[in-house]
Amino acid sequence: MAEETKKPKRERIPRTPMREENPQERVCSFTEVPLGYSVEEAMREASRCLVCKKPKCVEGCPVGIDIPGFLSKVREGDFQEAANILHDMNALPAICGRVCPQEEQCEARCIEGFKHDPVAIGNIEKFVADWERANGGTPIPPPAPPTGFKIGVVGSGPAGLTVAGDLVKLGHDVTIFEALHRPAGVLAYGIPEFRMPRLIVNSEIDYIRKLGVKFEYDVIIGVTITVDELFEQGFHAIFIGTGAGLPKMMNVPGENFAGVYSANEFLTRVNLMGASNFPENDTPIRDSQHTVVVGGGNTAMDSARVARRVSKAKVTLVYRRSEEELPARKEEVHHAMQEGIDFRLLNNPVEVLGNKAGEVIGIRCIKMELGEPGPDGRRRPVPMKGSEWEMECDTVIVAIGNSPNPIIPRTTPGLEVTKWGTIVADEETGKTTRDGVWAGGDIVSGAATVIRAMGAGRKAAKAINEYLQTLPKP
Ligand SMILES: Cc1cc2nc3c(=O)[nH]c(=O)nc-3n(C[C@H](O)[C@H](O)[C@H](O)COP(=O)(O)OP(=O)(O)OC[C@H]3O[C@@H](n4cnc5c(N)ncnc54)[C@H](O)[C@@H]3O)c2cc1C
Ligand code: SF4
Repeated sequence: MAEETKKPKRERIPRTPMREENPQERVCSFTEVPLGYSVEEAMREASRCLVCKKPKCVEGCPVGIDIPGFLSKVREGDFQEAANILHDMNALPAICGRVCPQEEQCEARCIEGFKHDPVAIGNIEKFVADWERANGGTPIPPPAPPTGFKIGVVGSGPAGLTVAGDLVKLGHDVTIFEALHRPAGVLAYGIPEFRMPRLIVNSEIDYIRKLGVKFEYDVIIGVTITVDELFEQGFHAIFIGTGAGLPKMMNVPGENFAGVYSANEFLTRVNLMGASNFPENDTPIRDSQHTVVVGGGNTAMDSARVARRVSKAKVTLVYRRSEEELPARKEEVHHAMQEGIDFRLLNNPVEVLGNKAGEVIGIRCIKMELGEPGPDGRRRPVPMKGSEWEMECDTVIVAIGNSPNPIIPRTTPGLEVTKWGTIVADEETGKTTRDGVWAGGDIVSGAATVIRAMGAGRKAAKAINEYLQTLPKP
C-alpha cells in the first residue's frame, strides 16, 4: 500500500551546457562566443526547475523577475508568454541574458543548485529574448494619451533607456540626450561584439525608439547645454544616468609613454570607432606583439580578449589578487583562459618602461601576497619586498576601474555628490538633492552592473511619474 502512494522519483537531468565557438577559431573574429540553446535544449533545461513555492532565485534577481513563471512557460513551449513575463520586470532581457552575473544573483540562490548545478536561468533568458526577436520582436503597446509633461534623460545606457521606456509608455514626452554619436552607453562602447552583438543592442534601441522616445546625440549636458537650461526650455523633470566613464589610472612612473591606453579608450576605439578595420576606418589602434592588461574585472577581461583578436598577439593579464578574488564574471574568466590569455595573478605593476622615443618597451611588476581582510572582507594584496621583475611588452591597457564624470555635478547647483563623486540619490526613488532631478545607475552606485542600473532606472521612473502628478497639468 505504502508503495502505491509513494511519489514517483523525479528524473535528475544534468544542467544543459551552452555550445560555444571553438576558442582557436573565435580569436580570429568578433562573432558571439555562446551559440545559444536550441528549442529542445531550452525546454529540457527549464524542466529542471522545481517551481519552488518560495523561489529563492527571485530574491537574487535585482529586478524581481518571476523566474519560475517564465521557466514554466518555456517548459510548456509557450515562448511568447515567457517573453511577456520577462518584459514585465526587465526592459532589456536579451542584454541581461548575456551579461548579468547570474552566478552571483539568481543562480547563486537557486534551490536546485544547493545539491546539484543550478538551473541555467541566464541561458534560458537569452534563448527566450532571441526567440522573440526572431519571431516578430517585442510587440509595441498602443501609445498612451499624451500628458504634455516633458522629461529629459541624460545618458543612453541601461539606466537611461529603462527610465525613458517606462515613462514614454505612460504618455510622457521623453528625450534622451547622449554625449556620444551612438546610443546604449557601455553596451555599445565597452562590451565587445563577441559578448554583446550590435544586432541585439540595436534591436533593443529600436524598440525604445518605436515606443516614442526621442534621441539627441553629440549633446554633452553640462557643456552643450546645462540642466538648468533644460528646465528653462520647458522640461518638467530630468533623470541623470551618465554612468562612471572616467578611467582610473595606476599613477606609476611611465604611464604617459605611447602605447599605454585606458581600457575605456582602447575599447571605444575598437567597439565604437571600428579600429580593428583601420585603415578602412579612420581610427587606428597600436599593432602589438605583446599587450599587458592590468586589472581583474569584466573590463580587464574584455580588453584582454579584444587585444587578442585585434593584433593576434600575446596578451598577459596582471592582477594583484588571486584567481578566487577576480571580480569578473566567471564565464568571462573561463573564456579568456580558453583564448590563451596568460594570467599573472598576485602581481602588480610598479613602473611602465619606455625607450628614448617615449614608447612602451616593458613593464616592471612586484609580486603580491594576500594579507588580512580589508573593510570589504576581501584579503588585502601586500607587495613582497624585493620581488620586482620585468617583462617586455609594447602595449599596456589599464583596466583598474572607473569613476563618475564630474561635469554635471559641477554645472548643476544644488546637486550633492559623495566624496567618490557619485551623485547623492535616495535608494528607493533616485531623487537627488536638486528639485525635479533624479539619478540612477553607475553615476549613483559607482561602477556596478547592467541590471542594477536598470533596477535604479525603473524605481526612478515610478517616482518621476508620481512627482509629475503633483504638478499643474501643462
Ligand atoms: C568594459 C565593460 C564591461 C562590462 N561588463 C559587464 C557585464 O558583463 N555585466 C554587467 O552587468 N555589467 C558590466 N559592466 C558594467 C555595466 O556596463 C554598467 O554598470 C552599466 O552600463 C551602467 O549603466 P548606466 O546606464 O549607469 O551607464 P552607462 O552604460 O555608462 O551609460 C552612460 C551614458 O551616459 C553618457 N553620458 C555621460 N555623460 C554625459 C553627459 N554629460 N551628457 C550626455 N550624456 C552623457 C555616456 O556617453 C553613456 O552613453 C561592464 C562595464 C564595462 C566598462
Ligand atoms: S530557485 Fe531554482 S528551482 Fe526554485 S524556482 Fe527558482 S530556478 Fe526554479
